[in-house]
Amino acid sequence: MREDQWCLAVPKREAEQTRRRLLDEGLLDRRYKPRSEGDTVLLPVTEEMPGVVRCAFETVPEHVDLPRHELVGGIAIMQENDPEGARRLLASRPSLETVLFPETPVEGEYRTRRFAVLAGVPSTRTRVTEYGLFFDVDLALAYFSARLSTERQRVLDLVGEGERVLDMFAGVGPFAITLARRAGLVVAADLNPAAVHLLIHNIALNRARNVIPVLADAAHLPGLGFAPFDRIVMNLPLAASVFLPAAARLCRDGGTIHLYALEEQESEYLPLIRAATNGEVTERQVRTYSPGKWHAVYDITVEREGG
Ligand code: SAM
Repeated sequence: MREDQWCLAVPKREAEQTRRRLLDEGLLDRRYKPRSEGDTVLLPVTEEMPGVVRCAFETVPEHVDLPRHELVGGIAIMQENDPEGARRLLASRPSLETVLFPETPVEGEYRTRRFAVLAGVPSTRTRVTEYGLFFDVDLALAYFSARLSTERQRVLDLVGEGERVLDMFAGVGPFAITLARRAGLVVAADLNPAAVHLLIHNIALNRARNVIPVLADAAHLPGLGFAPFDRIVMNLPLAASVFLPAAARLCRDGGTIHLYALEEQESEYLPLIRAATNGEVTERQVRTYSPGKWHAVYDITVEREGG
């Protein structure tokens, strides 16, 4: 039987890497069989996202009845509170340890959720492997999203050797530790003590000796005497705009700020960015968030009047 689904069309040589990445991010729709068309492979995905097209796929019988979920290491986060579905999901994959259901949306200053354990080991802690790095996460204590892994690699590609980078809202460190592969120094700040605790652990786990963890409110960073940074990551989509003036002060002239925002209209944050700097700005969609809302990233080149 054939059904229509969103899919990414990728060149054959990139297909396996992209398939694994989509699988890690919980975005590969395992109900359908990927297929080739000429030099491209069509990979079915679970949701509409930038670059997808609709294609017809054959269904994979054994996966048809598995509930929808997102994978974070050994944890599956289900969209429905369905304990029976959770047990089937747990049995379908030997690598799964726990199935969770979020009882709240991402909320509060620390951007965390409360979870109910539907099946498996009663824990919210797991280890995520991402492009050869390891992140120990505790989903109830600190924010983590596997869905940003591609975005982290995009930013890594932009980092110059030896750059000084600031991650203002570092969480357990996925951006900071990824960018440390190329940067000279990364300062990683967060105000959630549990996130910084895991960040320190993850720095040691990945031997990322050029990452400096800081337990601080981002508003205090300009007063701490750091020399200007070449690049600043601001991944606090609901409130990053509040901290943009502080970031602009911390960034060198000609440096880059990556500002993540949740928006309902293209260029929604442009007037605010223009109030902070005159430099070049490019905007792109990172992923859909809910119908009519998406995560956007603005890459901003900081330009000061008079240099
Ligand atoms: N960058 C991380 C990632 O990609 O996984 C975490 C992003 S999470 C959306 C935002 C983080 O900002 C949370 O860990 C939260 O604790 C932290 N946070 C919120 N307000 C903050 C503030 N005023 N100063 C520093 N960190 C803050």
